[in-house]
Amino acid sequence: MKISDIIIDYYYKNKRELVWRNTKNPYFIWVSEIMLQQTRVNQAKDFFNRFISCFSDVQSLAEADENEVLKLWQGLGYYSRARNMHLSAKFIVNELKGSFPDKYKELLKLKGVGEYTAAAIASISFNEQIAAVDGNVYRVLSRLFDEHTPIDTAKGKKRFKELAAYMIEEQAPGDFNQAMMEFGATVCIPAKPNCNRCPVSTQCLALSKGTVLQLPLKKKALKVKNRYLHYLIIIDNNNTFLQKRKNNDIWKGLYEFPLIETQKLIKTQKLISGDDFRKLFKGKVHIEHVSEVIRHRLSHQLLHIWFYKIVAENFLEKTAFTSISVDELEKYPVPKVIEEYIRESILKN
Ligand code: SF4
Repeated sequence: MKISDIIIDYYYKNKRELVWRNTKNPYFIWVSEIMLQQTRVNQAKDFFNRFISCFSDVQSLAEADENEVLKLWQGLGYYSRARNMHLSAKFIVNELKGSFPDKYKELLKLKGVGEYTAAAIASISFNEQIAAVDGNVYRVLSRLFDEHTPIDTAKGKKRFKELAAYMIEEQAPGDFNQAMMEFGATVCIPAKPNCNRCPVSTQCLALSKGTVLQLPLKKKALKVKNRYLHYLIIIDNNNTFLQKRKNNDIWKGLYEFPLIETQKLIKTQKLISGDDFRKLFKGKVHIEHVSEVIRHRLSHQLLHIWFYKIVAENFLEKTAFTSISVDELEKYPVPKVIEEYIRESILKN
C-alpha cells in the first residue's frame, strides 16, 4: 500500500470531528484555515463558532465594522489576519459580485491568502489537485523521506512542494491535505512523535536512520526581539483613556492604554522621572499600583509589560486619547494581555 493511502486511511478512521470538516463551503474553510494558522484546534473551535454565528457568510463579514471583526478575533493574535480577511471579504462582495474564487491562482489574489491557504481551500472546496504544505506537512515529509534540505530556503520550499505533489497524485486532494495536516498534528508531532503507533513507521526513512528529532531543518535561527511596554491606566473619576494602534506594528487596529515604550528594562522611579512620562502630567502624580511584569511571547518578539494604575486629574493629554467609562472597557477590541488585565485588575475591583 502507498504511504499516502495509509495516511488517508488512518485519517478516515481517527480524524477528530470538527465543524469545518463537515462542509466544503469555501468561506468556512477559509475562516478555519486562517484561525488554525495561529492556534490549536481545541481553541479554534470556539473562536470559529463565535465568528461564524456573527458572520455566517462572506457578505455579512464584508458589511461588518472593523471593530466588530477585531473584537471577535480578540485572543487569537495576529490581528492583521483578521483585517486582511475583512478586506478580502469586501473585495469578493464588491469586485467579484459575491462569488468566492474557485481556483488556486484566483484565491492567491485575496489579501492574506498565501500558497498554503489557497491550496487548502482549492483542494477541500473545489477538488483542485494541489498540495497544501504547512508546518505540519513539512515535518511529516522531512521525516518520511529523511529530507535534510532546510525548509526556510527557496531550494527547500521547491523540494518539499515536489514531495507533496508526488504524494497527492491520484488521491482525493481535499482528503489528502487534511489527512497530512491531521497526521502532523496528532502523530508525527514535533518533540515526541508517536512512532510506536505510527501506521507508516516501517516506511519512514528518518526512523530507520535515527534522524527523526533533527528534522525538519531550518537555516536561520529565529531571532527574538525584546520590547518593554509600560501601560498607564489613568483613572479620572470613573473614566480612563485608550488609543487605537495605527502604526504598522503589532496589534494594529486594536486599542490600548496610553503607552510608554522603553528600549531597555528600567525601574519605575526612572520611568516616572523621564521626559515621556513628565510631559503627560502636570505636577505630582500618585501611582496607586504597579503590576508585576507580564511576559508575552509573539512569534518574533518577547514583550515585557507593566501596568501602572494612576489616579490623575492632572493628565495633560486628555484630548489625544479616547476617554471612556471604565464600565465600557470591555466593548473595545484590545490585545489579549490587556483584556486579561482589564478583567482581573480593573473590573474585579
Ligand atoms: Fe513521524 Fe515517527 Fe511516523 Fe516517522 S515513524 S512518520 S517520525 S511518527
